[in-house]
Amino acid sequence: MRYIIGNGIIYDGNIFYPQGSILIDQSEIEQVGPCEKISAEGIEFIDVQGRLIIPGLLNPHFHFYSSLSPGLSPLKSPKNFTEVLKYFWWPLDQSLDEESIYYSTLLGAMESVKYGVTMIFDHHASMNYISGSLNIIKQACQLMGIKALLCYEISNRLNHLCLDQQIEENLNFHQQNKDSGWCKGILGLHANFTLDSFNLEQIKSDFPENIPIHIHCGEDRCDLQYCIEQGFKGPVDRLNHYNLLSPGSILAHCVHLSDRDVSLIKHFNPVVVSNPESNFNNGVGEFNPEIIKRYLVGTDSMSADMIATHRFHYLTANNSSLPQMGNLIFSHRNSIQQKYFPNTGLLEPGYKADLAVLDYIPCQQVDLDNVISHLLFGAKTGSTYLTVSDGKIIYAQHNFTNINEQEIYSQAMKVGEKLKQRFLKCQV
Ligand SMILES: [Zn+2]
Repeated sequence: MRYIIGNGIIYDGNIFYPQGSILIDQSEIEQVGPCEKISAEGIEFIDVQGRLIIPGLLNPHFHFYSSLSPGLSPLKSPKNFTEVLKYFWWPLDQSLDEESIYYSTLLGAMESVKYGVTMIFDHHASMNYISGSLNIIKQACQLMGIKALLCYEISNRLNHLCLDQQIEENLNFHQQNKDSGWCKGILGLHANFTLDSFNLEQIKSDFPENIPIHIHCGEDRCDLQYCIEQGFKGPVDRLNHYNLLSPGSILAHCVHLSDRDVSLIKHFNPVVVSNPESNFNNGVGEFNPEIIKRYLVGTDSMSADMIATHRFHYLTANNSSLPQMGNLIFSHRNSIQQKYFPNTGLLEPGYKADLAVLDYIPCQQVDLDNVISHLLFGAKTGSTYLTVSDGKIIYAQHNFTNINEQEIYSQAMKVGEKLKQRFLKCQV
């Protein structure tokens, strides 16, 4: 299919056309420029009437498996962060089966697409359904038409039970998908404090040197404390000791770190992901952007709305600035996602046609100095006008084009009820 999305304000952190058009051919961008230079003769032209067109958004830390959880309450009242895990998240993931993993993923992917997200770095757990779980997530992502970087978050919380299976699930999925252009696997670790030294030794010996990790790192003070008790200077120092740190590593949260951790981050330059709404919700403290300046913002599944999350971060982080928000949303995000999925993240010829047309028509002139302000205070939140992935329009004017939304919701309600019954029976 060859068509034009035009008469919009095009911005990708690099190029800017106040009245531009994009010519899409199959899955790629063929041409981009001012409207008058992109010929529309004989080609379908979708007029977006002055709306903002940006690259499809990336959510760099997400948990599809939590999508059926809103409305459930912890099985006991938690007094701290570890109890939130023990009384809520761990019983929830233990209650997941094949169909609930599938429908959780579909719901999470649907919500993401509504907000213009076309790529997700997911961190999965389902302790009673480990083998094959990542393939189920992959199938649901494929149906929705989004790109995904998947992993199983290995933990030793069941005292060595299923550890081999968790490692194998990561390894198999990584090997089976290493040549895929839209879905890849890396090594998932839950957190330092749920992995002992034997586990880390085993993981390191089972896994090839160059596979990046995705881990909750220094989310709560207990993670830093655990690593200090183990004789390390902090969670990043411990990962470095086991040779698990690389420029592709995804370190989620990074709220509680030592000076040594921070200097290792500056040395290795991993992908640090702050999740501000989640941190506020769990009361674990705040990420400090004055200490770690290169990072991304994720939702940690608090929502799938990346623009709203960036806005929340802008409003709550010390000394945040609009140019810095522009770096987070565009240039830094783009350099990170290209590590995993080349030719994505920019609106240039030869790149994948992944884009979001935000449902906002600016009434003040948009220029390079105020485009981020328009994004955070004008477009702010709400579903897109169009979401395009791999050249396919997957969401248009509040409707999915490739799935039956009502059918999925009605099935997900039944699956959610069964999940709830299993969750309520969990012993904590
Ligand atoms: Zn998380």
